[in-house]
Amino acid sequence: MKLDAKAIRYLNSEDFRVLAAAEIGSKNHEVVPTPLIAQISGLRGSGVTRSISALAKTNLIAKVKNAKYDGYRLTYGGYDYLALNAHQKHKCIYSVGNQIGVGKESDIVVVADKTGKQSILKIHRLGRISFRSIKNNRDYLRHRSSGSWMYMSRLAAMKEYAFMKALRQSGFPVPEPISQNRHTIVMSLIDAFPLRQISEVPQPDVLYSELMDMIVRLVRFGLIHGDFNEFNLLIKEIEDPDAKGKTPEGESPEIIRLEPILIDFPQMVSVDHPNAEMYFDRDVNCIKRFFQRKFKFVSDVPGPFFKDAKKQLIKNASERLDIQVEASGFSRKMAKELEAYMKEVGANEDNEESRNEDSEDDDEEEEEESGSEEDEEQTSGKPTDEVDDSSQKLGELRVS
Ligand code: ADP
Ligand code: MG
Repeated sequence: MKLDAKAIRYLNSEDFRVLAAAEIGSKNHEVVPTPLIAQISGLRGSGVTRSISALAKTNLIAKVKNAKYDGYRLTYGGYDYLALNAHQKHKCIYSVGNQIGVGKESDIVVVADKTGKQSILKIHRLGRISFRSIKNNRDYLRHRSSGSWMYMSRLAAMKEYAFMKALRQSGFPVPEPISQNRHTIVMSLIDAFPLRQISEVPQPDVLYSELMDMIVRLVRFGLIHGDFNEFNLLIKEIEDPDAKGKTPEGESPEIIRLEPILIDFPQMVSVDHPNAEMYFDRDVNCIKRFFQRKFKFVSDVPGPFFKDAKKQLIKNASERLDIQVEASGFSRKMAKELEAYMKEVGANEDNEESRNEDSEDDDEEEEEESGSEEDEEQTSGKPTDEVDDSSQKLGELRVS
């Protein structure tokens, strides 16, 4: 399920009202009866019928024949368009460019505003992954199965946005959060490669201790990333500013520093989480193992320990980011729901083992119909290298 924004410009404001009506209706109905869509949309006459067929044709809603009545359900595509439309109204997105990443639980797309300034749209897709353990029949998953992908993806986006904002405000090197709507967030584009794609580092010891310091500093602010690894660290190469203009033509200025930027926050946990120490150790070990394997670097000092890091925890609770995020509206109840769901569907596995191209994927047969094989691959690279001018303009869209 990739984002395809092509059809959006052909939708008018009535179509969007009907689409929004299908969304509202689906909160209480697995299949939204057609008359209910008409009623919620507040539109009269043949307009609703015309809109419904236009939306169904573009697969934004899908017709479902229920035992009792016929109706429609909102598709991921429809949910995408509702979010895109909102971002467009808020002037965050004017055009949609290339998809640069397809993770198990998200799509990453380069977008631009009207001035051409690029940013990143991250679309959370929590229901896409294989549902191996849903067979275990957890009631809350079974009973909310139709709405759960929408709700859970939205929770993931809300959580990620709340943490990105709090981290950024406390000076952590993370993208700038720009906007959040439904299951999507818009953030600044980081012009850098993931650590995984960096083959050589001039001073691995310097980068290594910077990363360990970051893990410890997160604990100081009450947090553990939970997925701190070479996929979720983008490495910016900082060139020597003094060398500008002095470097011979054809040569790039000397790189004097590597700046790690941390991304991907839906699985962050508080230091008070019952498994905090396990998550902390896992983060530390991920980096240790990666440096050893990739750069043949082993530190002479033992890695940081959770109990030591926790001694530095900020005393003033209002400065703790875990507490700030909870106060900002992403409640403890929401965090628990999301965590249970991610655990259930095996979503919290953004690590080497789960992404290793050679690794056996034993759940392929249980793939959701929407998830094609190519969706499984990580196709992330450096975003700006891949942007071409095939971007789809949303600008012509008539908004209500
Ligand atoms: P997932 O949850 O699917 O792992 P991530 O947030 O880690 O999603 O993003 C996947 C990939 O997309 C990253 O490894 C990175 O290459 C790219 N990416 C994500 N956010 C940005 C950003 N703000 N700027 C540039 N590239 C990004
Ligand atoms: Mg990631």
